[in-house]
Amino acid sequence: MSNGTDQNRVKKLNQGEVSAGPVIYWMSRDQRVRDNWALLYAQELALEKGQPLAVIFCLVPEFLGATLRQYRFMLKGLAEVKKDLRELGISFFLLTGDPVQEVSRFCREARPGALVGDFSPLRINVGWKEAVAEKLPAAFFEADTHNIVPCRLASNKQEYAAYTFRPKINKLIPIYLTDIPALQYHPHPYLRPDKGPQPGQKDYHFTDWQAVEETLNIDRSVPEAAGFKPGEAAGRAAMEHFIAFKLPVYDRDRNDPSRDGQSNLSPYLHFGQLSPQRLAYAVSRAGGEEKDAGLEASKEAFLEELVVRRELSDNFCFYNRDYDSTAAFPRWARESLETHRNDPREYIYSLPDFEAARTHDQLWNAAQKEMVFTGKMHGYMRMYWAKKILEWTRSPGQALEYAFYLNDKYSLDGRDPNGYSAIAWSIGGVHDRAWKERPIFGKVRYMSYKGSKSKFNIENYLAKVQALLET
Ligand SMILES: Cc1cc2nc3c(=O)[nH]c(=O)nc-3n(C[C@H](O)[C@H](O)[C@H](O)COP(=O)(O)OP(=O)(O)OC[C@H]3O[C@@H](n4cnc5c(N)ncnc54)[C@H](O)[C@@H]3O)c2cc1C
Repeated sequence: MSNGTDQNRVKKLNQGEVSAGPVIYWMSRDQRVRDNWALLYAQELALEKGQPLAVIFCLVPEFLGATLRQYRFMLKGLAEVKKDLRELGISFFLLTGDPVQEVSRFCREARPGALVGDFSPLRINVGWKEAVAEKLPAAFFEADTHNIVPCRLASNKQEYAAYTFRPKINKLIPIYLTDIPALQYHPHPYLRPDKGPQPGQKDYHFTDWQAVEETLNIDRSVPEAAGFKPGEAAGRAAMEHFIAFKLPVYDRDRNDPSRDGQSNLSPYLHFGQLSPQRLAYAVSRAGGEEKDAGLEASKEAFLEELVVRRELSDNFCFYNRDYDSTAAFPRWARESLETHRNDPREYIYSLPDFEAARTHDQLWNAAQKEMVFTGKMHGYMRMYWAKKILEWTRSPGQALEYAFYLNDKYSLDGRDPNGYSAIAWSIGGVHDRAWKERPIFGKVRYMSYKGSKSKFNIENYLAKVQALLET
């Protein structure tokens, strides 16, 4: 029985062979039960060999500056994953600590016939997997279930810009933008070799989520983002709501920060609670056979963001190991930013000033507050916000540091390849072209308050943010 996982999605990370023993899926970036090719592939291997299937997730006590806001969103999602898996006869184990040690330890006990991981281009995840692969006698596979077209297949090098990437990905989309089969009830139960509960556990299927949260070494000052209900079911509901009510006017409304025109799905996509392929598939079929010009334009605009821009970000982080530093900027941008490094700045703000939204610019302050209080900033404002950080700090390096710090501390979708590439776009011209030279920015594209005023009603945006703060 095969779920038909395309072999181009799968890469073998070590020399081990698939042998008798349970198959373990090490869930990391793709925290969902449905529409998950890595989990489907793990089940496919397990069923072929008549073996049990278990899922592990290793919770690190601190992760790239994530706060209570992001950890709670994730833990609530994982509790749902565990429950849903159990209904399908699949055990879930939450490990805590250093993933290299803990996953290796789990595998020493479980003696898996194969380990399957999901794909992430971020250095930290790549490093964990390399280290586990070295120690593991069993076969270790990685399945890319975050990209519709597998990242390695879409391109074998860092793409210069969307226009170089688009034709490559568009050629493969008809093959990969398909429906996704359902995970089956797993007929072979997993029995853990130690057979007994760990100290403090009622049984080895029990996870005390509250106790787990208390062990985290994180900033607890950033509260949950009340407007985003975590989990796979909530992600699916948000997708359905978007397609039914907002997609038809997405093209018209998405770039107007005073309207609620974006999908607001990035938190679910970031944590893998929603499958990008499921979302793209559902959007591509919206409206059925009827061809409404407005809807078709919206579908095209949305798929450009979700498929081309999002997957270009994975391409950037995968092929450029310096994705979060100025070394990742194209040469023309590095050189012209360097030429203008000592240009006088009208305003210079410290990180605490930025964080507390204490700049002279009401528009910038509103965007910062929107992010701090809601867990997400409007996409158009994100560009303006990052470019102004460049304008009001001493150097591009400092601007990058502040932008990553603030974005990753407050945004639910932070520390994502999309964030790394879009901040590098805003501050360092990545995936962009050279523009007319000007102070501080050099040839990097500039954005102004005046330009924003001509694009949308700033007063309405300020009022919208104020209303959000008062709810
Ligand atoms: C300075 C800056 C920082 C950003 N930081 C992040 C971040 O931390 N995490 C993050 O996911 N996105 C980030 N983005 C990209 C983009 O702004 C967000 O993906 C988008 O605002 C998310 O909201 P949405 O899901 O409602 O977007 P929609 O407009 O509904 O788009 C749907 C999806 O398309 C993808 N997408 C949209 N715009 C982009 C883009 N420019 N680049 C890559 N993918 C895109 C996202 O997956 C998004 O969820 C950043 C952009 C800028 C300019």
